[in-house]
Amino acid sequence: MSDDAGIKKAASLLKQGAVMLDISCPICHMPLFKLKSGEIVCPNHGKVYVVKNEEEEAKVKREVSLQGVEETLLDGLFAVAKKIKEDPSDEESLKQVIYYLDALDRVEKLIKELKGQQSQ
Ligand SMILES: [Zn+2]
Repeated sequence: MSDDAGIKKAASLLKQGAVMLDISCPICHMPLFKLKSGEIVCPNHGKVYVVKNEEEEAKVKREVSLQGVEETLLDGLFAVAKKIKEDPSDEESLKQVIYYLDALDRVEKLIKELKGQQSQ
């Protein structure tokens, strides 16, 4: 992406109420923006993670892998839900849905815990 496109994107982020930060993207060195949602984005690269130290980097990596697990579980859940739609008397699939929901609940708790630690 050219610098021009980055500047245009930066301008539109500001219009949306994003705040320009005094830190720059580690990849392209454009200033980073903090969105209203609290997410930090680079106009060129989208969502970026700003880490202050190795400990924080490890936490972010864990969070990203947990989000991967969450996505996999959701895919599985949707696949099973589809089976139930085809055959509502499929008890085995109904049990699987409960397992998936339970697993998702646990993963979400872990992610929340990690996020809580980061904001302290
Ligand atoms: Zn960037």
